Amino acid sequence: MTSVVPVDAIPTAEASVPSASVAPAPRVQGMDAAGEAETIVDSDARSEFLDAALHALGSRVVVTEVERIRELLASHHHAFSREQEPFAVLLPGSAHEVSIILRLANERRIAVFTRGTGTGLGGLSTIDRPGVLLLTDRLNRIRCINPLGHYAVVEAGVVNARINEAAAQYGLWYAPDPVSRDRSTIGGNVATNAGGINCAKYGVTRDSVLSLTVVLPDGRIIETGRPTMKNVAGFDLTSLFTGSEGLLGVVVAVTVRLLPIPQGSSRIVVFASGLDRVGDALDAALAAPVRPASMELMSAPPDAADLDIFGETAQGARWLIEITTDGSAAIREADVLQEALRKTGVTAIRATDAQSEEFLGLRKAGKAFPRGKAWMAGSDVAVPLDHLSDFLRNLGRWANDAHARLTVLAHLADGNTHTGFILPKRSSDETMPPALVEANRRLFDYVLANGGTITGEHGIGLELKDRLPGQVGEDNLALQRAIKRTIDPHGILNPGKWV
Ligand SMILES: Cc1cc2nc3c(=O)[nH]c(=O)nc-3n(C[C@H](O)[C@H](O)[C@H](O)COP(=O)(O)OP(=O)(O)OC[C@H]3O[C@@H](n4cnc5c(N)ncnc54)[C@H](O)[C@@H]3O)c2cc1C
Repeated sequence: MTSVVPVDAIPTAEASVPSASVAPAPRVQGMDAAGEAETIVDSDARSEFLDAALHALGSRVVVTEVERIRELLASHHHAFSREQEPFAVLLPGSAHEVSIILRLANERRIAVFTRGTGTGLGGLSTIDRPGVLLLTDRLNRIRCINPLGHYAVVEAGVVNARINEAAAQYGLWYAPDPVSRDRSTIGGNVATNAGGINCAKYGVTRDSVLSLTVVLPDGRIIETGRPTMKNVAGFDLTSLFTGSEGLLGVVVAVTVRLLPIPQGSSRIVVFASGLDRVGDALDAALAAPVRPASMELMSAPPDAADLDIFGETAQGARWLIEITTDGSAAIREADVLQEALRKTGVTAIRATDAQSEEFLGLRKAGKAFPRGKAWMAGSDVAVPLDHLSDFLRNLGRWANDAHARLTVLAHLADGNTHTGFILPKRSSDETMPPALVEANRRLFDYVLANGGTITGEHGIGLELKDRLPGQVGEDNLALQRAIKRTIDPHGILNPGKWV
C-alpha cells in the first residue's frame, strides 16, 4: 500500500489533528484479518470486562462515557487514520493497574490498543475493530535522574522533551530527538524506536534504552535489561520490545541512558539549486573526517518570504541543508566541512543561531510542503549512506517523469528521507493519480534493490504492512509471527497490524 494523503492534512506544528471518524462497533464474533488474532466483540464479554475493570480500578481509570471517550480519542488521535470508537478508554497510573487491565482483557479476548500521544504516523495503533484504548497519560512521572549512573527512570507517558528539562540541571541530556519530541511520549518513542535529527552521531532510541518495565498481555510484569552500560545476560529483550509498535506488551517505565551535554556547537547552511548539487555536497560531507550531529535537508518552502532571514544568499535556492557540529571541536569540524562543501560549488555559509533556528522551525513546521488540496505519495525510507546521493538524484528523475512536484525533508546524516511526490487534487479525483503510484513504486523498488529499508522512523503499522514481506522475506516474517504468538497467543494487543 502506498502512503497517500491530501497535502492539506500533512501534520505540522500548527495543523490541528483531524478528529476521529467514529463508526459504531459491530456486535459480531470476529477474527483478525490475517486469521491470527482471536479478539472477540461479544457483548457479554465486553460487559464482563467493563464490570470487572470498573470493580477493580474505578471510573477514574475505566472511562465509559461516550462524550469523554470521544474527547480522549480526538486528543490522542493518529493523523491520517480513520478509526472506530473504542468502547472504553483506560487510564492506568501504575504497572499494577496495567497488569489488571491486560489480564482481564486477555481472559475475555478484548482487543487493546495502546497509545501515547498519538503522533505516530501510518496507522500504528489504529482502532480498526471493537476494543479498548489504553492511554499512558497517567504514567507520567520521572522517577529518578541518576547523575552518577548516567541514567534516568521515566514512566512511559512522559513526553520526550521533559526528560531533558529534568536532566539539564545535572549537565546531562537524553539524546534521541524526534522532531515530535515536544509532543511524543517516551513509551511511544520506545514502541517505534524513534529516530531524530541527531541520531547519526548519537543513535536512535534503541541505543539509549538500558532497560524496560513491560506488562505482557496476560498481565505478567517483566523487567528487561539493567541500568548498566554493558549487559549480555540472555536474549536482548529490551531490543525486542523497542520498535515492537505496541504488539508485544505495554511499556510502563523506561531506563534511559543520559550523556553529558555537548559543550559548544557550530552551524552551516548550504544552498543548492538542484538535487545533483545536493548529492555532490552530501558526498563531500560524508567523505570528510567529521561526524556532524545533524545534517538536515529541506526543499525550499513555496513562500520565498520564509527564507528572508538568509537575505540574497537564498535566492534561487531550491534546496537547503543545515549542518550542526557539536562538542568542544565543533568550530574546527565545521571549518573542515565548510571547506569540503565549498569545493563542490554550493554556497555554504556559517549560520547564526537565529538563522539556524529559523531553518529548523520551517523544517519542523513542514513549511516545505505546498498548501492546498493535493495528492501526495509519501515515504519514510532510508538507504545506506553510500547510495544516498544517487537516490536523491533519482528522486528528481522519478518526479519529473510523473510531472509531479517533489518535496523532501531528510535526515541526510543517517540516510532517512521523508519524500512526497505531489500533484494537485482536482475535485473529480477520487483515487491517487497513477503517475504518483508509479513514482512511489520506482522509489520502493530502488530502496529494496539497494539495501535500504521501507521505513527509517515511522514504522510499519497498517500502511506498510503489505510491503514488509518484500523487505524481510517470508522466513523472517514467520519468525516474527511466532514471537507474537508466543507472547500474545490471543492476539489482543494492537490486532490487525503487520504480524
Ligand atoms: C510533526 C511530527 C514529527 C515527527 N518526527 C519524528 C521523528 O523525527 N522521528 C521519528 O521517529 N518519528 C517522528 N514522528 C512520528 C512519531 O512522533 C513517533 O513515532 C513517536 O515515537 C510516537 O510517539 P507517541 O507517544 O505519539 O506514540 P503513539 O503515536 O501514541 O503510538 C505509536 C505506537 O507506539 C505504541 N505505543 C505507544 N505507547 C506505548 C507503550 N507505552 N507501550 C507499548 N506500545 C506503545 C502504539 O501502540 C503505537 O503502535 C513525527 C510525527 C509528527 C506528527
